[in-house]
Amino acid sequence: MVLADLGRKITSALRSLSNATIINEEVLNAMLKEVCAALLEADVNIKLVKQLRENVKSAIDLEEMASGLNKRRMIQHAVFKELVKLVDPGVKAWTPTKGKNNVIMFVGLQGSGKTTTCSKLAYYYQRKGWKTCLICADTFRAGAFDQLKQNATKARIPFYGSYTEMDPVVIASEGVEKFKGENFEIIIVDTSGRHKQEDSLFEEMLQVSNAVQPDNIVYVMDASIGQACESQAKAFKDKVDVASVIVTKLDGHAKGGGALSAVAATRSPIIFIGTGEHIDDFEPFKTQPFIRMGDIEGLIDRVNELKLDDNEELIDKLKHGQFTLRDMYEQFQNIMKMGPFGQIMGMIPGFGTDFMSKGNEQESMSRLKKLMTIMDSMNDQELDSKDGAKLFSKQPNRIQRVARGSGVATRDVQELLTQYTKFAQMVKKMGGIKGLFKGGDMSKNVNPSQMAKLNQQMAKMMDPRVLHHMGCLFLGFVNLILFQKFMCQI
Ligand code: GDP
Ligand code: MG
Repeated sequence: MVLADLGRKITSALRSLSNATIINEEVLNAMLKEVCAALLEADVNIKLVKQLRENVKSAIDLEEMASGLNKRRMIQHAVFKELVKLVDPGVKAWTPTKGKNNVIMFVGLQGSGKTTTCSKLAYYYQRKGWKTCLICADTFRAGAFDQLKQNATKARIPFYGSYTEMDPVVIASEGVEKFKGENFEIIIVDTSGRHKQEDSLFEEMLQVSNAVQPDNIVYVMDASIGQACESQAKAFKDKVDVASVIVTKLDGHAKGGGALSAVAATRSPIIFIGTGEHIDDFEPFKTQPFIRMGDIEGLIDRVNELKLDDNEELIDKLKHGQFTLRDMYEQFQNIMKMGPFGQIMGMIPGFGTDFMSKGNEQESMSRLKKLMTIMDSMNDQELDSKDGAKLFSKQPNRIQRVARGSGVATRDVQELLTQYTKFAQMVKKMGGIKGLFKGGDMSKNVNPSQMAKLNQQMAKMMDPRVLHHMGCLFLGFVNLILFQKFMCQI
């Protein structure tokens, strides 16, 4: 994907800092030049690129800064911050309300991907358990209703449309009324487009909008026009009350960065992005994936500080799919050493900084501490057993002893053991991935698709609640190690 390309180029530029023996003006300029070239190549507006460069330079005072690692990290952080700013419209996006009718109307030029994206959004919400439906109010393009019908049928989403009615306002109103009557929560109205911004399109858009009174108007835009998106987005925003934007076709064009930053410049919140023709090629927009690897250097530094590679014993165990309660204890200690969870999690590809709010962070930290207190009451036999959970289930009085010793309920000890079993399973799976632990080096042969598969497997094994509390910390931690290894190879 194009954005990953951009991410890779930016990582490589940031990496040059780590290779330099001293960090001076020259090194900084060379790095910035590389970052800017990558952004320009992705069609980001030259003014925005210039601004980024100036902001980084003014945030950094090489003379004042302490030397070494810290200096590098501060520079990387400054670049990272500016990159996020570049694609962050700074406006909170609309979100639907559960248990209520939410009418969402789609607008945009013909061919931008409206009909495809309507189905993707409907499918997305349906899978999350919302009562969802689709309405085809495109009477302009022949075959529009058939296209929507086909998509909806495939995904088993209820739909409404007509082969004979030619007035989009009538169809839209009838459909919305019908589905509101049936208590649908997400009602998506697809409208027609034109080849360019014509008055007749805007007129029709306004009429449909007045008739159905949408809670959210989504403007769909094709990323392939790059930074030219800005004027198009502005034109639509001037005519109708565009509340959110979906940028499509970010898979196929080199101009994705330009499109996203151009939309952000109009202060329109981008809610999702389309990354392919399939109904699954769709993801919520986060500013992080754009710069997915941006801060990975700082992360690697932190992991290196832990000197995990020196822990041959652990690596050997992981290689054989073994994971004891003591290992879990030590991993928790490592996580605690690494500093604020939220910050660390934000650095991990796939976990946004919003993944863990401040409150959550404190909650996770105290949860982790509690777990460690419980393990403090375990004896060596329990901690070092190859299957600690079994030992406890065979002799339940151990659970009571540990609970008493650590001042918690037996239920808490049981929960910890369940947690541990899940982690141990995960490790077992990891050990089973061919080539992952070859020759002592954890992931010499791991490739991106294996990485993705591994992530999926791990995510599947965790129920969402666990994942959100502390499972994610460990998952992130394992990811860190693997990712570090992976990055070192490219
Ligand atoms: P509409 O005229 O705005 O309703 O656009 P359509 O939904 O009919 O889409 C136009 C074309 O773009 C179709 O061939 C879609 O398969 C394709 N398309 C839509 N979204 C994406 C995307 O995110 N990536 C790619 N590669 N193609 C897309
Ligand atoms: Mg269409």
